[in-house]
This record gives sequence, C-alpha cells and structure tokens, in this order.
Amino acid sequence: MATGPLGHWAVDSMTGASALRPLYLERLGRPYALGCCLARPWVNLVCPTLPSSVVSPLWSQVYTVRHSHNLIRRLPDHRPAAPGPLLAAASTFFLTLPLIGLPHRSKLVSLSTIMPAAANATSASPARAPKNIAVVGGGIVGVCTAYFLAISPHRPAGSKITLVEGTGVASAASGNAGGFLARDWHGPATASLSAMSFDLHRKLAEQFGGSKHWQYRSVDTLSVTIDGQAEPATSRSPVPWIPKGNIQKHSQLGTHSTTAQCHPRLLTRFLAERFLREEGCALVLGTAKALALDSDGVPHTLMVNLKEDGSERIIDVDTVILTAGPWLGRLAEALLPSSAARGVAVDGQMAHTLLLRTKEPTTPHCLFVDLTLNDGAVSEPEVYPRPDGTVVICGASCAVDLPETAGDIIGDPASVDKLRTQAAGISPVFSEEGGAAFESSTACFLPIPDRGRPVIGKVPGMEGVYVGGGLSCWGITQGPGTGLVLAEMVLEGEAKTADVSKLSP
Ligand SMILES: Cc1cc2nc3c(=O)[nH]c(=O)nc-3n(C[C@H](O)[C@H](O)[C@H](O)COP(=O)(O)OP(=O)(O)OC[C@H]3O[C@@H](n4cnc5c(N)ncnc54)[C@H](O)[C@@H]3O)c2cc1C
Repeated sequence: MATGPLGHWAVDSMTGASALRPLYLERLGRPYALGCCLARPWVNLVCPTLPSSVVSPLWSQVYTVRHSHNLIRRLPDHRPAAPGPLLAAASTFFLTLPLIGLPHRSKLVSLSTIMPAAANATSASPARAPKNIAVVGGGIVGVCTAYFLAISPHRPAGSKITLVEGTGVASAASGNAGGFLARDWHGPATASLSAMSFDLHRKLAEQFGGSKHWQYRSVDTLSVTIDGQAEPATSRSPVPWIPKGNIQKHSQLGTHSTTAQCHPRLLTRFLAERFLREEGCALVLGTAKALALDSDGVPHTLMVNLKEDGSERIIDVDTVILTAGPWLGRLAEALLPSSAARGVAVDGQMAHTLLLRTKEPTTPHCLFVDLTLNDGAVSEPEVYPRPDGTVVICGASCAVDLPETAGDIIGDPASVDKLRTQAAGISPVFSEEGGAAFESSTACFLPIPDRGRPVIGKVPGMEGVYVGGGLSCWGITQGPGTGLVLAEMVLEGEAKTADVSKLSP
C-alpha cells in the first residue's frame, strides 16, 4: 500500500472537525491525529505516513473544507514531501499568518481584507406584524433573541413573546462555556456578526454594569507553548502566575481592545430576567414537541411538554424562532417539514470545563496553550482566569451522543481527570499542592453545524419560522449579535446591524 508523508496541518474545526471526525475516529486512529479538541476552531492533524486509501478521502474532505470556508492552513515547519493535485490547488488559498504556536481558537486574517467586500445584508422581505412569538431554547442565543425582540421599538403593541426552555435558562453550553470573546478572529461568513456582537457585549456591559453582574472585562490573550519534555525556558514568563521556565514560546493573540471575557451563565440569566420585566413576556419551562401550521403554512400553535409535570401546554404562535443549540437539528426535524429541516442540520460535540479557585491571584490574561506533558501527552487547553479568583480551563472533547435534554448530560470522568492533569502541567498554581481548590467540572455540547457555518435567518419556503444556531465554539461571542439580528429580521424584515447574508439557512 502506497504511503505519503503529509506533514503537520491545521484545519478549521467548525467545518474541518465535523468533516474529519469520522476519519479521525474510524480511520486515522490515535497514532495519526492529535489535538482534536473540538472546543476550538482549529484541529492539528499530524499525518506522518498515511496510506493513500486514507489520504485521498481525507484531502478531498479538507479540500471541501477549504473550498467552503477558505480556512485551512499548513504549519510552516512541516512541509509535505509530495503534495498531490488537490493539495497543490488548495495551497494557493492558504492564509499567510505567522503560524508558530498556532492556537486552536485561532486568529484568522479576515478574507474581507483581501477579497472583494462581502455582499450587503440580505434583501428585505416585507416585515409582518407578529403578535405571538415563541423562541425555543433558553441558551444565550434564545435569551438574547427574546430580549432584543422585547425591547425593540418595532415590536407591535400588545404582542406576546414566550421563551420556551426545556431544562433551565443557560443550563447547557451557555451556562458552562469559558466566556472568552474575540472581535476579529473570524472567517468571512461571520466576521461582521462577530465584530458587531463583540461591540454589543461591551455596550451591554456599560449599560447594565456587566463587570459587576457577569464579570465582564477586557483581557490580553496569548498563545503559549509549554513543553514538559523540553529544557526549561530562560526568558521571563509573560504572566506572573506561570513560573519562569515553564513557557517555551509565547505570542500575543489579542489585546484589551480585541478580546474580552464574561461569565456566560450570569450574563444569560441577567438578560433573561430583563426580558421577563418587559410587558407580554413570559418563560415557559418545557420541551417543544410539535408545531401546527395553518392552511397558509404559517405557525399556528406550538405544543410544549411542561417540565414540571409532563403535561401539555398549547401556545398560540404566529412566529417561531428555533434556538436550541446542539438540539437544533433534532428540533427542526420534529417541528418542520423535512425539506425545511434539511437546511438546519446541527448536532453536538461534547467538551469539558474545569473550575478552580487559585490561592495565587491571577491577571486578566486568557491563554491558548499548546501543552506537552512530561509523559509526552499533547493537548490544547484554554485558560480563562476570572475576576472572582476562579480559573476556567476548557478542553477534553470526546465523542458522546447528544442526550435527549440538557438535564441528561453526564460528563466523562476520564476527560475531567485529563483536564486536571493538564491544568497542573500548565502551572503549579493550578494544582492541589499549589493551593488550588477544585470547585466543579462540567460537560456540555458545542453546537456543530453540518455545513460548517452558523444557520441564522428565516427558514426558506416557510413564513414566520426562523432559526439561530450552530455557533460552534463562538456562541458566547456571537450570541448577543445573533439575537439582535434575529429580532431585526422578525420585526423589521431584515438584518440591519450585521451582514449575515452567508448564514441564511
Ligand atoms: C466547553 C465549552 C467552552 C466554550 N467556550 C466558549 C468561549 O469561551 N467563547 C465562546 O464564544 N463560545 C464558547 N463555547 C461555545 C458556546 O458555549 C456555544 O456556542 C453557545 O453557548 C451556544 O448557545 P446556544 O444558545 O445556541 O445553545 P445552548 O447554550 O446549548 O442552549 C440551547 C438550549 O435549548 C434548550 N432546548 C433544546 N431543545 C429544546 C426543546 N425542544 N424545547 C425547549 N428547549 C430546548 C436546551 O435545554 C438549552 O438550554 C464553548 C462551548 C463549550 C462546550
């Protein structure tokens, strides 16, 4: 069987990981792939000598990834010996950033800076005057959608807005994510939304005292390489809570004007509470099960199984917005005609977080770590110190089927153990011996869109039905902006504040 050295490459995981996951799991196996941490948009793929039967489907998928997103790049110091035609073709599109210490939630050159400007916002369809709106899913996207609908000056008088949440507001990823926010790290399809949403985070924080209520603050962000097998570094550590010698390489990825952080559960619950203060707004704790359409195909009633006792509640609706995170694909299949549901394929990928309280004070630095432990194990944890003295460490994704509800999620103890070992490998201040107290660990699911970019907008061929989801590892950054553009689409007929034309379902 012919083999071909492929070198060391990175692909965008929003598309790449979901495309490559079956290969990674079923064909490549452990010796060939590493760093497949789906909590980040980049996957390091190390393929030293793969059989050609594996190489060609792999690269044709990578090529598809490149083609749809323009987000694939090769790590410079591992040249493939003999690139095949696909590889050669793809390489003409590679981005040319400094790639050493590539972070996995990587900063990308926005292609809008090197390509013709993206098309403007989607053309307006005449705004209806919705009277009964239901938003299904109370994560950050659903809550922000409900909130911006509720406070919009375009909201019809007397209209009702119902937020339907199956388990509890922010009970899934929006409650447990790291809360890292980046303004300009995004590909062309989401660049406009991300920048708007990042600015909106800051405005919300200024308006409501976000630093007090949800620990909002701007941060410096670094890529760091820590190699427990290498000689101790002689240079100073860029952060005071990692000792000199631990960090072999580091580079600045973001500054206080381009990166920030928040406590996503506190933010989401704060906005849910604000939503509930508005007239005609309600929260129903229950799982949406069915949607009835009238003879014109417009939503008529939404059937919900109430959490409290399993009884049925029928909610009158003329507009429905589905924002069910990783459950979006399943929900669309349950509620919409199959032709409409096909365009909303979103599933979940489990990842974990660890919450530690350190004895040593930390500083506002978020870290993307390329970590090699002294036993050779490689990983890429993300480290987010919070102002309250805790530190969130994210990573350790694993292949687990999405359970029925957020309440059924059970973390993988082995993954949590790995995160704890990784934390101690980054700095002694994160170890028990260094005085760190373990507060909690959580597992949650990234919403992974099949097509590799979020689905935000009106469902084609349906009146009064919208979706917002598939935000993968950027849902906290993009959540407020997604809620705002969805509210604009519903009440004003089109997205006004960001160009989301490439995200239509
Ligand atoms: C470990 C980890 C770390 C992350 N870190 C970051 C980060 O630092 N920065 C960042 O920008 N992003 C981060 N993310 C990504 C981010 O958390 C998600 O993209 C975002 O939370 C998705 O929000 P959502 O509202 O779409 O979905 P979710 O938060 O998953 O909410 C969906 C909600 O829908 C409800 N629901 C589902 N089905 C139904 C139904 N039929 N009826 C009623 N309700 C239903 C669920 O109960 C759930 O509450 C991280 C994700 C993970 C897993």
